[in-house]
Amino acid sequence: MQFVVEQHPNPTPAEQIAARLESPVFGRVFTDHMVTIRWSEASGWHDAKVEARRPFQIDPACAVLHYAQEIFEGMKAYRREDGSIALFRPDQNAKRFRASAARMSMAELPEELFMQAIEALVDIDQAWVPGGDGSLYIRPFMFANESFLGVRASAEYLFCVIACPVGPYFKSGKSAVTVWVSDQYTRAAPGGTGAAKCGGNYAASLIAQTEASAKGCDQVVFLDAAQHRWIEELGGMNVFFVMDDGSLVTPPLSGTILPGITRASIIDLARKEGIEVKETPYAFDSWREDAASGRVKEAFACGTAAVVTAIGEVRHAGGEFTIGDGGEGQVTRRIRTLLTGIQRGKEADPSNWVWKLKSTKQA
Ligand SMILES: *Cc1c(COP(=O)(O)O)cnc(C)c1O
Repeated sequence: MQFVVEQHPNPTPAEQIAARLESPVFGRVFTDHMVTIRWSEASGWHDAKVEARRPFQIDPACAVLHYAQEIFEGMKAYRREDGSIALFRPDQNAKRFRASAARMSMAELPEELFMQAIEALVDIDQAWVPGGDGSLYIRPFMFANESFLGVRASAEYLFCVIACPVGPYFKSGKSAVTVWVSDQYTRAAPGGTGAAKCGGNYAASLIAQTEASAKGCDQVVFLDAAQHRWIEELGGMNVFFVMDDGSLVTPPLSGTILPGITRASIIDLARKEGIEVKETPYAFDSWREDAASGRVKEAFACGTAAVVTAIGEVRHAGGEFTIGDGGEGQVTRRIRTLLTGIQRGKEADPSNWVWKLKSTKQA
């Protein structure tokens, strides 16, 4: 599909971009452009555009405002030392975006079109990709924008991509986070939308996140809805445990867990390193006992935004416990270094996960 490109009439001057890239707060600084593609029952995918980022005009009866048909993705572009720009496994985001659309009865964007949209935005806004530890966080999303009231799938969708330069995800710069294990709220139930990256899942998790903050915690750990016993994941990150025999344990993708691309990549990387990985259910009670006995040495959360983050302290309705010495353990550090090394071109990439942007202007 041909994208119509309408350059921003007043693009941000280079010195202002430089100032905004210095220490951007996550999700607050946006690049100059956006990509939009429309879908309707009558015309299919059409009207692909790269244009100045601007507010949408939507009708008060716009379907997403009432019935929450909305999905999104999160991925990053990295500036490498040679000035080139790389994406990490964007084909996997394209695939998952389609799967999320299918679950939410939305139009499925062809994977090539998703990729074209990402490349078009990063290309036009490449001056916004920070170097060093920073990256450009890319947010593709899609919502139902037919104007009507009535419970059925919308006959129109708007796909859009925006991007923001980001620094480290956790402001505190701590080496490990504290998590709250929610005993009251769950994130996903069998047959529900837990495996789809939809805004509604986040809406439902906010109350538990608020509770976590009130308990002095950074993140929530959700248990399964049926038995309230099995560890599933965090609000927006998957979870791994490092056992004393050196193996990794992570909950299996049972339909209630978001299939993280970071999760899948870590499983692959660890296995290539000769580390055993067990995708197996792990009970919260076992975690507590294993932390006390030393059978669990480390725990970490992973996702595109926060990459790999050690879990140091665990708080729950019955008390609290510490993992290892409460900081980042050796295995967690090794995996974080390997993964970020591949993303930034400092480690070999045997599985060809990295996609170089063809048109990068060399810095
Ligand atoms: C996006 C997301 C993740 C992490 O997925 P990545 O592809 O690794 O970024 C984990 N859990 C939830 C609920 C998510 O929405």
